[in-house]
Amino acid sequence: MALTYQSTRGQAPELDFYGVTMAGLAADGGLYLPKIWPQFSTSELAALAGVPYREAAARVLRPFVAPMLKDEVLSHLLQVAYASFVDPAITPLRQLDDRRWILELFHGPTLAFKDVALQFLGHLFEHFLSHNGQRLTVIGATSGDTGSAAIAALANRKNIDVFILYPHGRPSEIQRKQMTCVDAPNVHAMAIEGSFDDCQAIVKNLFNNASFRSQYNLAAVNSINWARILAQIVYYFFAAVKLGAPEKAVSFVVPTGNFGNVFAGYAAMKCGLPISKLAVASNRNDILTRFFASGTMQTEVVHATLSPSMDIQISSNFERLLFDLCQGNAGTVTTLTEELRKDGVFSISKHQLAMARQVFSAGTADDTETIKAIKDTYDNSGILLDPHTAVGLAVGGKLSRELPDPVVMLACAHPAKFPETIQRAIGITPELPAPVAALLRQPERLSLLPANVLTVQNFIAARVAS
Ligand SMILES: *Cc1c(COP(=O)(O)O)cnc(C)c1O
Repeated sequence: MALTYQSTRGQAPELDFYGVTMAGLAADGGLYLPKIWPQFSTSELAALAGVPYREAAARVLRPFVAPMLKDEVLSHLLQVAYASFVDPAITPLRQLDDRRWILELFHGPTLAFKDVALQFLGHLFEHFLSHNGQRLTVIGATSGDTGSAAIAALANRKNIDVFILYPHGRPSEIQRKQMTCVDAPNVHAMAIEGSFDDCQAIVKNLFNNASFRSQYNLAAVNSINWARILAQIVYYFFAAVKLGAPEKAVSFVVPTGNFGNVFAGYAAMKCGLPISKLAVASNRNDILTRFFASGTMQTEVVHATLSPSMDIQISSNFERLLFDLCQGNAGTVTTLTEELRKDGVFSISKHQLAMARQVFSAGTADDTETIKAIKDTYDNSGILLDPHTAVGLAVGGKLSRELPDPVVMLACAHPAKFPETIQRAIGITPELPAPVAALLRQPERLSLLPANVLTVQNFIAARVAS
């Protein structure tokens, strides 16, 4: 029987896997979650040991996507999605010392873990569209990594137009060129004269415009889309069984921004994967660290750090965990998220906090600690970390007493994506992998636009292929 998905706010229709993939955000503003978590037995987990990534992915994803995707279709989508990864292991696990491993998630085309989910989502969209005969307009706001990964995944796909808004002058040169050097007629990189928040506000406004949304069949590629979280569940299984699961439980340290990656770890646990602890690692933007210490979520101003993809205050995917902490009471979730939006603060009970802390630990590392983690790891093991991964290592060190062995550190981006920070830490500029360096030598194509909804709306309407 098909798994159904429900909204965290309880007021949107329940949907199947096809429905949630196409919807992104639920119609009531909530996020979709499976109504029942598929369970993997001890013997099914044991049988995953030594299985190649794509085959493991097929076994983990099957109960979430059947019967919309037949087994042979799922296998084909995984085959083509990960053909763009340069490492044959897709997400290789490297040993750091006697208790810590690094799970490298950055071997995809844009050198960040977002490729693991978006390469799959791109092929999934195309598959669904080839069956329903529709066109899709993907619109997204980005501070850097999501936009480039979405463009790499969707360039030249049939029946899809992609519009990515980024704040003019803000992404790094590498991040910008990964968006603007892609020569594909369906890709539109839009430099907005404003901040990331302005970009996000424009995108939200377009999604809330019901007639525009349905006329152009808008779709979301940020991690509110369940299919993105789903694709990321796989590598938690993949790493844990390599390190002895199901007999042994494993801890993970996850550099966190929007709470998507770490929620995928939580989802793996809900499916029966033995995880001892999930450590939520933050930079100076420590709202989640404060939450897991006090039970109060309170926003502050956002600080710019060396790990920009984690410079976030409100983590949108946190709502998925909140739904569980409220034992599926969508009314309470709605009230609390509304309080956060209006007053910038909400609190959960002592009992709920205790529940959360059984699974999660949390910690913060500032820029100085980030630089030190890059340098120390390089000096001690020759492994070069990107600044986001380095936040994870620094926090993992602080929390080591709370994290039972073995510990897996998620490596979120390739160090060459952040050359200035690496230069500052160890005095060496890392080299970009050849295919990325070649792409960045191509001419740039972008449109500079004011931070105005109507201008953006007209720009999109004029360019969607009809
Ligand atoms: C997106 C991103 C993060 C944050 O991940 P979330 O799923 O939003 O928590 C961390 N590091 C890098 C390099 C990223 O691109």
